[in-house]
Amino acid sequence: MTVAALTQLLAGATRIVAFTGAGISTESGIPDFRSPGGIWTRYDPREFTFDRYVVSAEVRRRSWAMRRELLAGAHEPNAAHRALAELEDAGRLVAVVTQNTDGLHQAAGSREVVEIHGTSRAVTCIGEPTSGVPAGCGFRAPASWAFERIDGGDDDPRCPDCDGLVKSATVSFGQAMFPDALEAAAEHATSADVLLTIGSSLQVYPAAGLPQAARSAGASLAIVNDEPTPFDALADVVVRGRAGEVLPGAVADALGR
Ligand code: NAD
Repeated sequence: MTVAALTQLLAGATRIVAFTGAGISTESGIPDFRSPGGIWTRYDPREFTFDRYVVSAEVRRRSWAMRRELLAGAHEPNAAHRALAELEDAGRLVAVVTQNTDGLHQAAGSREVVEIHGTSRAVTCIGEPTSGVPAGCGFRAPASWAFERIDGGDDDPRCPDCDGLVKSATVSFGQAMFPDALEAAAEHATSADVLLTIGSSLQVYPAAGLPQAARSAGASLAIVNDEPTPFDALADVVVRGRAGEVLPGAVADALGR
C-alpha cells in the first residue's frame, strides 16, 4: 500500500495511539533485536532471563556490559520520533505506547509515553526475589549510577539502602510486566480511533495483543514496518518502509502542513 493511504487515515483521525518497537529507533543508531547485526546476534537471549539474573553474578556482569553497549553513544531522536511528537502537539495523537526502553520519544517531545518494557535510562532495586516478580525497596537511580560503581571496581553493584540486587528498570525475559503500564496501554489501544504501529515485528506477547485489542474495539489499524508482520492481514493500511522516511511526510500531509 502507499503512503497516501496512511496519510488519508491519519488525516481523518482524532485519537491516534502510536505503538512503537525497536524499528523506530534503528535510524537513531540503536540496533533492534531480531535484524542481522542486532544485539541478539552478539548476546544470547537465554542468558538474560530474570531468574538467571537473580542467581548469577556472572549473568549480572554480562547484562551490565550489554546495557552499556545499548546506551553507548549519544543517540538522538529521529524524524519518526519527531513526527509522532508533532501529531501529539497538534492534538491528534493521545499517546505513544512503546516497547522501547531508550527514552527517545520523550527526547523528541512526546509527553504521554507508556513504556511497557520499562526504561534502560534508570536502574532499580529488585531486592532478593524468589519468583519472576521484583521485590525491591523502592531505590531508583539513573543508569549512570550503576556504571560509575562498575568503573570504580564494584562489578556487581548492590542497593545502597537495603543491599538488594540492582537491575536495569526494564522488563527482562521471564519477568512480570509492570501492571500499571499494561493497563494504560490497553486503555489507550481500546479507546483509539487509529492504532499506528511502527517498527515492531509484533511477535512478543502480551504487547503483540494490542493491535488485536484495538481492532476489536473498533479502531483502524495501520502498520509501518520494513518487513511483513503477523498482523498485516488484519490491518487497514500497511506501509512497508523505513519509519524515518515514511512518517514525516505522512504526518505533514495529514496535518495539512
Ligand atoms: P523487533 O526487533 O522484534 O522488531 C523490529 C521490527 O522493526 C522488525 O520487524 C524490523 O524489520 C523493523 N525495522 C527495523 N528498522 C526499521 C525502520 N527503520 N523502519 C521500519 N521498520 C524497521 O523489535 P520489537 O518488536 O520492538 O521487540 C523486541 C523487544 O526488544 C522489545 O520488547 C523492546 O523492548 C526491545 N528492544 C528495545 C530497543 C530500544 O529501546 N530501542 C532496542 C532493541 C530491542
